[in-house]
Amino acid sequence: RRREAAGRAHEPAVTRAGVPILVAANVGSLTDAREAAANGADQAGLVRTEFLFLDRDEAPGVDEQVSVYGQIAEAMGGRRITLRTLDVGGDKPLRYAPGRPEQNPFLGVRGLRHSLENPALFGAQLDAIVRVARRTPVSVMFPMVTSADELIAARRMLGDRKPPDSLEVGIMVEVPAAALKVETFRPYVDFVSIGTNDLTQYTLAAERGNPAVPADGLDPAVLRLIDAVCRNAGVPVAICGELAADEAAVPLLTALGVRELSVAPAAVPLVKEAVRVSGTGSADWALGLPDASAVRRRLSG
Ligand code: PEP
Ligand code: MG
Repeated sequence: RRREAAGRAHEPAVTRAGVPILVAANVGSLTDAREAAANGADQAGLVRTEFLFLDRDEAPGVDEQVSVYGQIAEAMGGRRITLRTLDVGGDKPLRYAPGRPEQNPFLGVRGLRHSLENPALFGAQLDAIVRVARRTPVSVMFPMVTSADELIAARRMLGDRKPPDSLEVGIMVEVPAAALKVETFRPYVDFVSIGTNDLTQYTLAAERGNPAVPADGLDPAVLRLIDAVCRNAGVPVAICGELAADEAAVPLLTALGVRELSVAPAAVPLVKEAVRVSGTGSADWALGLPDASAVRRRLSG
């Protein structure tokens, strides 16, 4: 099956119901971008720009950012790249933009909150993104958005830089509040992308990566939030968390209305195959089950 998937990796993925699903890649380096293109990724659904900012003593300048984002776009063969603005703070502090110590970094000044508190750093990144967007298809995506006022502030800073019309703007939906209020973002976004890693952590109160509190994105509480986002967003919905690469979950996610799955580069061919065998059924059966293992039993049974 793996060989079959590799053979068709560069073809589009369409469900049995005839719905085209973009299978994109999550990229955290130039090497990832090359691997994504080689594996048939339709676009880069999430570029984690942190790789350019962490482990150094000063921020990358605008020119350096333009160069690296441009190289990623080139490695992707000119396919659209989704540049997520810096998602640091909390447990990923920057030496050159230290914040106050926090007891609960995952509930603290991270993601877009950090960017709005560091306007020089954020402005330089927006400058770079706008410059790259003038010559290749680019989307910009803001992480950890909780309410529309944050997004309005970010969009104002972006608007000051006169971005081209081709620059699409989106948010990550990874805070339960954003999922529940998704229609309030509608005037300001072209797309939303659900970050199931953080959305699961915040919904289940289970720290990601803590083996003592395993958290499964197929928990019906998380699925209900994904369902609500698909119903109410009013713009195309992507998923860029680990759940998107879970082949068992793919038919459920496409049935809920997700139209793009962004996954690790190596997972692209198999996720495309999982899309191709996804049927026409509804996903409602899963929303009323008690927990993730009940959903998994039904999916495998
Ligand atoms: C997520 O939270 O699901 C996500 C894709 O972002 P990150 O893993 O970088 O926090
Ligand atoms: Mg996240």
